[in-house]
Amino acid sequence: MREDAGAAPITALTTRTYTVPTDQPEADGTLAWDATTVVTATVEAGGQVGLGWTYAAGACGSVIDEKLAHALLGRDAFAVAGSHEAMVRACRNLGRPGIVASAISAVDIALWDCKARLLGISLASLFGRSAEGAPIYGSGGFTTYDDETARSQLELWVDTWGLSMCKIKVGESWGTCEGRDLRRAALARQVVGAEVALFVDANGGYSRKQAVRMGRRYLEEAAVTWFEEPVSSDDLVGLRMVRDTLDLDVAAGEYGYDEPYFARMIGAGSVDCLQIDVTRCGGYTSWLRAASLAGANGLDVSGHCAPNLHAHVAVSVPHLRHIEYFHDHHRVDGLLFDGVLAPGGGFLVPDDTSPGHGMTLKEADAAPYRR
Ligand SMILES: [Mg+2]
Repeated sequence: MREDAGAAPITALTTRTYTVPTDQPEADGTLAWDATTVVTATVEAGGQVGLGWTYAAGACGSVIDEKLAHALLGRDAFAVAGSHEAMVRACRNLGRPGIVASAISAVDIALWDCKARLLGISLASLFGRSAEGAPIYGSGGFTTYDDETARSQLELWVDTWGLSMCKIKVGESWGTCEGRDLRRAALARQVVGAEVALFVDANGGYSRKQAVRMGRRYLEEAAVTWFEEPVSSDDLVGLRMVRDTLDLDVAAGEYGYDEPYFARMIGAGSVDCLQIDVTRCGGYTSWLRAASLAGANGLDVSGHCAPNLHAHVAVSVPHLRHIEYFHDHHRVDGLLFDGVLAPGGGFLVPDDTSPGHGMTLKEADAAPYRR
């Protein structure tokens, strides 16, 4: 046994891959997809099992098997920061962003879940609550939807679930469908009424001046208040230009795979609210570090997608604005996992009576989706 094994050495790290087809064709401004791949990580230590996952590609499983397991087996399950660092160092030669960071994220989440279960407390208690629940906004509104589909999704969020914020995709076909973008935003405003906050996400589909022009119209014609990735999130100067020009909040950060990425985005003054994705950034360990960086620079943070994983850490951050309650992840999480949180009322409220994040894999239900 290693000297740093402590009271609960990690005895196993396993992974599985599931692919779940979408309920209909989906696209945003710059990408189309027909399935979601979930890679799970399971950590065993001290008689407990921690579960984490990422929405990525099956290659994450190879990274976990070939690199991360070797780095973690025998380490103390309580010493999560040390395990996180060991994973990052083990992957030096692979390059951290993308597949590697997503794999590390899944395992880091499993490590935190395992630690909380070893302690017999909820993850929210382990992180320390700042609030009872985390506000959520409905997210979907794909460019592939016809008006009727868009309308019924918005009605589900607002009328059935009682959400007070929602978001649709714009920037269709790399910004070449401006008229349809504006009509869809106007339809969304008409369906949700005047009191619900309406957001748009262009996924980097517009050019700089086009984004300014479109942003002005979203604000004037549909009272939009949040303009996500109006230009590419790699264009920090462009994001800053849009942010300085428009009376809309500019948001980005969903492709942040390490802490320096967030430092650069914040340092360039590119966003009003930093989006951080716990299944990409490096798990709960990195999510909290990025959130601290944002808070110290006067910015709110928002959990990008993965609502059932974000809720537990999000309630510990006083400058949390909201979590993205993403259509695909609502579906996929419900199919694969027991213990997911209910979106009704506009908040996700972690349950303190369930150790860890309270979720477990539904083995039998998940089996048909296994790869
Ligand atoms: Mg987005």
